[in-house]
Amino acid sequence: MSLALHGIGVGGGVAIGHAHLISHTDIEIAHYTVRPEDIAGEVARYDSAVKTARQELEMLWGSIPENAPTELGAFLSLHIMLLNDQTLSVEPKEIIEKRKCNAEWALKLQLDALLAQFDEIEEEYLRERRTDVIQVTERIFKTLAGHDMAMHTPAPTDRDSILVAHDLSPADMVLFKDSEYLAFITDVGGPTSHTAILARSLDLPSVLALRHARSLIHEDELIIVDGVNGVVIVDPDERTLTEYRARQDEWTERQARLQDIRTSTPVTQDGVEIELFGNIELPEDTDQVIENNATGIGLFRSEFLFLSEDDLPTEQEQYEAYRAVAEQMNGQPVIIRTIDLGKDKIPKWQEETDAPNPALGLTGIRLCLAEAQLFRTQLRALLRASAHGKIKLLVPMLSHVGEVRQTRRHLEEVKAQLRVEGIPFDEHIELGGMIEVPAAAFTVEHFLHHLDFASIGTNDLIQYTLAVDRNDDAVSHLYDPVHPAVIRLLHHVISTCNRVGKPISMCGEMAGDPALTRLLLGLGLRRFSMLPARLLKVKEQVLSTDLERIKPLIARLLDADEIETLWQVMEELQA
Ligand code: PEP
Ligand code: MG
Repeated sequence: MSLALHGIGVGGGVAIGHAHLISHTDIEIAHYTVRPEDIAGEVARYDSAVKTARQELEMLWGSIPENAPTELGAFLSLHIMLLNDQTLSVEPKEIIEKRKCNAEWALKLQLDALLAQFDEIEEEYLRERRTDVIQVTERIFKTLAGHDMAMHTPAPTDRDSILVAHDLSPADMVLFKDSEYLAFITDVGGPTSHTAILARSLDLPSVLALRHARSLIHEDELIIVDGVNGVVIVDPDERTLTEYRARQDEWTERQARLQDIRTSTPVTQDGVEIELFGNIELPEDTDQVIENNATGIGLFRSEFLFLSEDDLPTEQEQYEAYRAVAEQMNGQPVIIRTIDLGKDKIPKWQEETDAPNPALGLTGIRLCLAEAQLFRTQLRALLRASAHGKIKLLVPMLSHVGEVRQTRRHLEEVKAQLRVEGIPFDEHIELGGMIEVPAAAFTVEHFLHHLDFASIGTNDLIQYTLAVDRNDDAVSHLYDPVHPAVIRLLHHVISTCNRVGKPISMCGEMAGDPALTRLLLGLGLRRFSMLPARLLKVKEQVLSTDLERIKPLIARLLDADEIETLWQVMEELQA
């Protein structure tokens, strides 16, 4: 009988194929006593398992395809690091010696102890590292049992295969990238889990957080994966199959058709030109922005330079990264956001936070103002790079106007130093602010006195307005970009900026959702910045929008106090 499962849709499109289940992570662990004369041998067996596991990971790391997402290497390095940590490389051997037990049992005891510590952790990012520890220990268990971990992600059969897993580790993803699976689905994975991050970059249909897919789906069963709506249909009937085949054809055709508008100017039916920018995390993402013919870079999340390294990047390293992007963009604007660390982004060199609620703590500009040296080094690098292209600065997490004033003071002082040293930079470099805290949204006019432009960060603005953690899939159903409070707040920010004549853009995920393009255009937004993969889909919406037609709909939407009216208007907007 056909069955529908619901989860979080990550990659686009629809896939129809046969389920290929990968081995369950729960392994039965044998427990036996080792004779005193065999202890040394057991310790050596453990050592050798760790060594083999390390070699496997290093081999995978070395075989990462060139076009693989950069996160892949980082995740594998993290697993290698965990494997080398003494909690896994040394302490289990001490347990073998002390308890005179077999290596598997010693590792199990150690894993239990480590997981108990993780259970105490509140912070989402660190809790997600729990999965990494399980995945690494699982690798050692399998090696102890004499299994090759490549079995973990078996090659697909000659039929169209869809991978069904409880969870996928970064190492699985390397193999997955090389294989020819049509799609994948997993039981677990929050919207910001490793799996979700990688799934987005692979751009394959995928659905996460299905909870029981791995136990409800049988090997070789026919399944449909709808990555757009986050639905998986198991053993579909003929009618459903026909419907999804049609949707699949439609999707493929649409993807191909989108290429036709690659070089066209994003202009509405009534002749209003819209600017579409790309978001990047690392300099190498710039190619994709150029391929999709964007107006420029609307958000370079510079903190990723700080996340991928063991040490703090030097001024020179930062300068080279910013300069490379500016030069590659060849005079087109490049908006670089100053370090937005804290919250879920904690670099290796930073002390683990014991803040009770990091999302409300020392994050974004607050951290930069508290760590003036870190901030001024970045400002120097940015200013130096500004001599090589059209760089603009963007400050994250503003909540007090004083933060902009202090930023300007640092900026002016760094400029003065560079002048003394005779180092060239753009004297007129623009300073923008992220509007992503409700306080800044409500009082945006005050901020605009001190800013050259503003950019709305809807990812955070929504989480703070609705009190819904953007990383927690348990409340993801409450994370609603079209909540009346969000719409009214966006309207206030956009119309205020337009009224006072300060450029306003949006760089949160909302800007890249084609289903919301008309709403945002209707609210007066003319600059959008998004993942490069979304640029053409949003452009398609822009090209088909008549601003005059949607005006009365937006007026109704802003007045709506019934959720049904709101949905009805959203539907009419798309008509
Ligand atoms: C946002 O909050 O919308 C944003 C663009 O910044 P980030 O997602 O990096 O917090
Ligand atoms: Mg943000």
